Amino acid sequence: MTKLEIKDLHVKVKAEPEHPEILRGINLTINTGEIHALMGPNGNGKSTLAETIMGNPAYLVTQGDILIDGESILDKAVDERARLGLFLGMQYPAEINGVTNAEFIRAAINARRPKDDQIPIMQFIKQLDATMDQLKMPEDMADRYLNQGFSGGEKKRNEILQLMMIKPHFAMLDEIDSGLDIDALRIVAEGVNSMRGKEFGTMIITHYQRLLNYIVPDFVHILKDGEIIETGGAELAKELEKTGYEHLKVGDANA
Ligand code: ADP
Ligand code: MG
Ligand code: MG
Repeated sequence: MTKLEIKDLHVKVKAEPEHPEILRGINLTINTGEIHALMGPNGNGKSTLAETIMGNPAYLVTQGDILIDGESILDKAVDERARLGLFLGMQYPAEINGVTNAEFIRAAINARRPKDDQIPIMQFIKQLDATMDQLKMPEDMADRYLNQGFSGGEKKRNEILQLMMIKPHFAMLDEIDSGLDIDALRIVAEGVNSMRGKEFGTMIITHYQRLLNYIVPDFVHILKDGEIIETGGAELAKELEKTGYEHLKVGDANA
């Protein structure tokens, strides 16, 4: 089992040090084997949390810590964090020209393996084909430049393809359900569910119960104004669907 701990995390945008903190003391522990859902109104810091855990240099940690198995990762760059088993499925995946999807995924897999034990090319292609089949992705998407001209839904599916191929210990999946029709949503959810196991933990950021009908979370957290104001089980998301966020006030978590 591996443990990801967020302790009293305070975060600012690095370019705007005079602006108030976006995250104001987040505490959260995710063990491998667990599925956490992170919900909350727009513009309250969900993506900032995911990006900061992954090590996006646009964000400045002003207080607190992020640890994997008790060791701080704050001084580690994105690629080092990826090697430690962190993965971010982005809300807005970047388009990269000149690198094909397959090349990108193979490089990401190999970066996590020793130099003398890189994934054999035939094994990689077989796995990639099978996973793309599972996600019902057209074959040519492997050879197209990363996310270039992909539709919103294709980009999201592609994030899940990367997830399933790279097999991280911890995945933060930021609004993977946005832009998906109901069939694609089911396929994406099945992909995430196929990752379930004692070596995999995830934090799923979503606005919708719809996704959580397919991926049933062990824990649901509500992030508002940079704080986790409530934590519960899968039923909390169902409740929210009925009542919305409005009645939730900062401080409820401690009430
Ligand atoms: P959420 O994912 O919950 O919708 P975000 O984490 O994207 O919220 O944003 C939280 C707040 O921080 C918003 O007010 C947003 O404008 C601001 N913010 C996030 N990232 C940046 C950035 N790189 N530069 C400037 N402001 C940012
Ligand atoms: Mg948002
Ligand atoms: Mg967001």
